[in-house]
Amino acid sequence: MADIIIIGSGNAALCAGIAALEKGASVLMIEIANEHEWGGNSRYTAGAMRFAFESFEDLKPLIRDLDDERLAKTDFGTYTKEKFLGDLKHFNEGEPITELQQYLVDNSLSVLQWLGSHHVKFDPSYARQSFVKNGIHTFWGGLALDVEGEGDGLVQAEMREFLRLGGTIHYNCAAEEIIQENGEITGVKCVQDGVPIVLPCKAVILGCGGFEANKQLREQYLGEQWGVAKVRGTRHNMGKGLEMATSLGAALHGFFGGCHAVPMDKNMPDYGNLELPFNERKHYRKISYLYGIMLNEEGKRFVDEGLDMRNYTYAQFGKAVLEQPNSHAWQIFDEKVAPYLYAEYRFRYATVIEADTLEELVAKLDGIDKNAALKTIQEYNESTKASQDIGFDPTLKDGKTTTGLELNKTNWANCLDTPPFKAYPVTSGITFTYGGVRTSKNAEVLNENGEPIKGLYACGEMVGGVFFHGYPGGSGLTSGALFGREAGYSASKGL
Ligand SMILES: Cc1cc2nc3c(=O)[nH]c(=O)nc-3n(C[C@H](O)[C@H](O)[C@H](O)COP(=O)(O)OP(=O)(O)OC[C@H]3O[C@@H](n4cnc5c(N)ncnc54)[C@H](O)[C@@H]3O)c2cc1C
Repeated sequence: MADIIIIGSGNAALCAGIAALEKGASVLMIEIANEHEWGGNSRYTAGAMRFAFESFEDLKPLIRDLDDERLAKTDFGTYTKEKFLGDLKHFNEGEPITELQQYLVDNSLSVLQWLGSHHVKFDPSYARQSFVKNGIHTFWGGLALDVEGEGDGLVQAEMREFLRLGGTIHYNCAAEEIIQENGEITGVKCVQDGVPIVLPCKAVILGCGGFEANKQLREQYLGEQWGVAKVRGTRHNMGKGLEMATSLGAALHGFFGGCHAVPMDKNMPDYGNLELPFNERKHYRKISYLYGIMLNEEGKRFVDEGLDMRNYTYAQFGKAVLEQPNSHAWQIFDEKVAPYLYAEYRFRYATVIEADTLEELVAKLDGIDKNAALKTIQEYNESTKASQDIGFDPTLKDGKTTTGLELNKTNWANCLDTPPFKAYPVTSGITFTYGGVRTSKNAEVLNENGEPIKGLYACGEMVGGVFFHGYPGGSGLTSGALFGREAGYSASKGL
């Protein structure tokens, strides 16, 4: 019998496993997916991890290749705890920082150092988070490092460490119910390769994700329109963990009215695709809208595309796209900004419509109100003139704004005047859900009275109260690693 059963094999579960093994517990991980599909949403990520740092000195021990010549010409800036807290608070809609958010920020650097001590390696996020300015790689947005090999590299490194420390894993093993007898956890009812079995244990750690892949739960909690959303990652996060935990009295907690969702290629498959090489798995995403404009089928703009740097808007704009007629919009760019668009716009499967004039482009957009679209673009172009002398600068909010529109674009408002013009049709793809179970900062699952349920712990997307109306990109993996580690430590202590 294993001391601890961990349900799931994503970043949070693996960190829980490594931490529990560090403390001498015996650990069995069970994963509903097979040997090819394990690793959950974590495996689809860019491996971007947000953490607070004061200077390059904090980053240095984490960086894999200190001989990289670019480092001498790189300005990472700083990302203080205050800034990280401010970024989280920005999405709390006036509510104060929660205990879990404070704990996340305070321990964000130390948890990356801990991952480093377990052979996870990091690279500066040059491609996604920096631009060359006056010969210097200038970072923006506080997100300095990615894991080597992105999310796939992260879970592969964590899995190697988990197995090296003596953990075991059962694939094709779906957790169905946690068994509790006389107030003690005694095992998990599972279906292994189609056969019902009971696996005994003394404690359970839930690292089995949110409910983003479950159409019915999306409609129930997030609203009916979320039924049609694409799922950016795994098809296995069906909310089973929430069901198992609440049947033992766990309190639901956090924000169930929303989720993380981003604009995605309208023609992407319904779920993420692990058949793609790891560096292409995110490429159905389309989040460089801030350098162009977005039009819906009525030919109207519907958000201030230049409201903020993309890390601070992409999660809300996914929802905004979903709310448009037929959950559909187009992102429109001219050639001037082509060098600033993410690689996902040059993805071999990207849907793109191209033309030499704006009139020809609009004529090619199926389903759009063509007259209205052209009028919107012309009015937009006219409204950029007042700030035409302000330089376009993608490393900061450049204040290059439109004037006089009902809905202005407040930064990066270039005139669309340089052919070829390109349009990318987008819809909305759900990344993960925010609502989860109530936990202490030590990852104990709490009941409605705020008391720990003996032997039950949760981490990662399972945890509510960390993210609310949005999230600063890269915080999900850090949160999963931290509360995963806490879950592993707490579960072994409680044996
Ligand atoms: C495309 C994409 C890109 C992202 N990019 C980033 C990024 O760069 N940085 C960042 O911080 N965050 C990113 N995120 C968010 C991030 O993926 C999540 O916050 C984080 O990975 C969640 O980790 P987790 O361990 O909680 O869940 P997951 O990694 O999803 O793991 C859950 C596991 O539980 C398993 N499971 C589910 N039900 C059962 C069951 N009944 N029995 C057994 N096993 C079960 C699943 O199969 C899965 O393996 C991204 C997400 C997506 C989808």
